[in-house]
Amino acid sequence: MANNYKIETRQLAKVYHGQQVLKSIDFSISPGEVKAVLGPSGSGKSTMLRLMSLLEASDGGVILLDGKELGVEVVNGRARPSTEIELARQRTRLGFVFQSFNLFPHMNVMENLLLGPTAVFRKPRKEAQYEAEVLLKRVGLIDHCNKFPSELSGGQQQRVAIARALIMSPEVMFFDEPTSALDPELVREVLNVMEDLADSGMTMVVVTHETGFAREVSDHVVLFNEGRIVEEATPDNFFSADAPLPVKQFLQHVM
Ligand code: ADP
Ligand code: MG
Repeated sequence: MANNYKIETRQLAKVYHGQQVLKSIDFSISPGEVKAVLGPSGSGKSTMLRLMSLLEASDGGVILLDGKELGVEVVNGRARPSTEIELARQRTRLGFVFQSFNLFPHMNVMENLLLGPTAVFRKPRKEAQYEAEVLLKRVGLIDHCNKFPSELSGGQQQRVAIARALIMSPEVMFFDEPTSALDPELVREVLNVMEDLADSGMTMVVVTHETGFAREVSDHVVLFNEGRIVEEATPDNFFSADAPLPVKQFLQHVM
């Protein structure tokens, strides 16, 4: 599952109701890298993820995948916003896992996984089903493939959501507080799947309050505050006694 593309943002900006919630974000992630994004509530972490994964349009700056700008087409030398069809195609390269799982409640686990590949990629059902089985085994849920989301625990639903994102073979996986909605005893099973994914070489951006995950699994830790990246460091430096003051102040609140 090695990925080959670098994804980056340059001067990414977002304004809501006249308030600038993202201020010139330069963020980049290399193939196979795992970055943990930390920061107080309201600092813009989710907004950056939604923009980078093309779930929402930015108000400035660019998002580049392998050096090519996303969300924009150049026609006759002029840049113009991508069509909805083109955006949908680009989104398939960008996997997203939400805090609240967001499975389709009226579909069983298998159907949740098959929808993307069959409807978007027009893959034969048999082929997609084989891939779904491989992924459901990988997240430990093959025995639950006929169940509906409401019959699963939160941890199981989140593992299905991860498998559903992976079946599209994304270049990068975005996780927005994937364990924050879970009962404490279910957090580990989801983190284990994410660690396995990181070990397999997946490029991952993970917004999380799990400092243990940031410390042990990520290659870099990024700290957000008030719409800006205020620090980026290796876990060793980030969680060290010599970390800069904003890092220490933040960690004092969460640890
Ligand atoms: P975080 O994920 O770090 O908690 P968010 O990206 O969700 O932060 O939010 C950043 C700021 O943008 C907050 O002030 C929030 O209230 C505001 N915001 C986020 N989404 C919207 C939206 N859809 N409409 C208006 N304001 C929003
Ligand atoms: Mg958020």
